[in-house]
Amino acid sequence: HSPTDPPKINRLSDSVVNRIAAGEVIQRPVSAVKELIENSLDAASTSINLLLKDGGLKLIQISDDGHGIRYEDLPILCERHTTSKLSSFEDLMSIKSMGFRGEALASMTYVSHVTVTTITKGQLHGYRVSYRDGAMEHEPRACAAVKGTQIMVENLFYNMTARKKTLQSSADDYSKIVDLVSRFAIHHNNVSFSCRKHGATRADVHTVVTSSTLDAIRSVYGVSVARNLIKLEASDNDPSSVFEMHGFMSNANYAAKKITMVLFINDRLVEWSALKRAIEIVYATTLPKASKPFVYISIVLPPENIDVNVHPTKREVSVLNQEAIIEQIQSVVESRLRSSDEARTFQEQA
Ligand code: ADP
Ligand code: MG
Repeated sequence: HSPTDPPKINRLSDSVVNRIAAGEVIQRPVSAVKELIENSLDAASTSINLLLKDGGLKLIQISDDGHGIRYEDLPILCERHTTSKLSSFEDLMSIKSMGFRGEALASMTYVSHVTVTTITKGQLHGYRVSYRDGAMEHEPRACAAVKGTQIMVENLFYNMTARKKTLQSSADDYSKIVDLVSRFAIHHNNVSFSCRKHGATRADVHTVVTSSTLDAIRSVYGVSVARNLIKLEASDNDPSSVFEMHGFMSNANYAAKKITMVLFINDRLVEWSALKRAIEIVYATTLPKASKPFVYISIVLPPENIDVNVHPTKREVSVLNQEAIIEQIQSVVESRLRSSDEARTFQEQA
């Protein structure tokens, strides 16, 4: 046919559609790890352990001690849009769990090989079943299991050659995963976390349950960070910009080459680039030598003032009245930083 003829429009097969969509939700190993950790947290786990092979490309294994998955639900567990967390669109307004799309596990089965072992309360044994392309590969098999769920994601992107190649050559996925686990570990200090490379005897992150955020920061980021932190608190009652915030920020003695900003909004690990930039500016303009800060902030907002549904990875959020909230946080950070800098100057002179 000639190049001026209109080309025929084809309907893509489900498996092609699903693989394309899966590639968006699971961009790299660290995105799979985030989804898996969030599922374990949603399942009320108190202990979450990760094992990685080849930066997560060969194997991501996560074990938790959460409530497990009902035997009856195993057949649809990895189908797209199956979830125990949401039933109507209105529920989205008040959603407390981190998941809700019912897309993460399904996506993983389209770009890797997923095996789930799980046991629920009161059962004598657990079940193990493997999935591919959204479906069980066989009936669940009875097996020995301790409390909770273990999920193995093997050979990620085995069917996406280009993606696999670029990731293999980049080789920094393991450090991205360690960074991610570190962030979760300081916010969820009531959960113990570990993250280990296959074959390594030592874990790269290892926390115990503690009631103190500062202890958690010390155990993850080290003494040099923990001893240079200032407590942060702010809130607003104005109905249009109501929020509550607490956290820690580095003082005038702390100097790092790049900013570490750990932000949770309503217990979700998110990026809020406007806030990050605002805080960086405060440090750059307040301190004599432009040192980059360490900041951990937890913000609580009315669920109706935050939209968590802007992106499939749920990473960037959009916040109602963001200017007003950012301005207030900025001014608290600035005044705390000024007084810490004055105290330091005073110490040096004395
Ligand atoms: P979502 O989290 O959006 O519901 P997922 O695909 O991540 O979707 O998970 C689907 C369902 O599988 C969840 O709603 C939950 O019921 C169950 N699930 C997944 N991981 C776990 C886990 N670690 N422990 C218990 N249940 C889990
Ligand atoms: Mg989920």
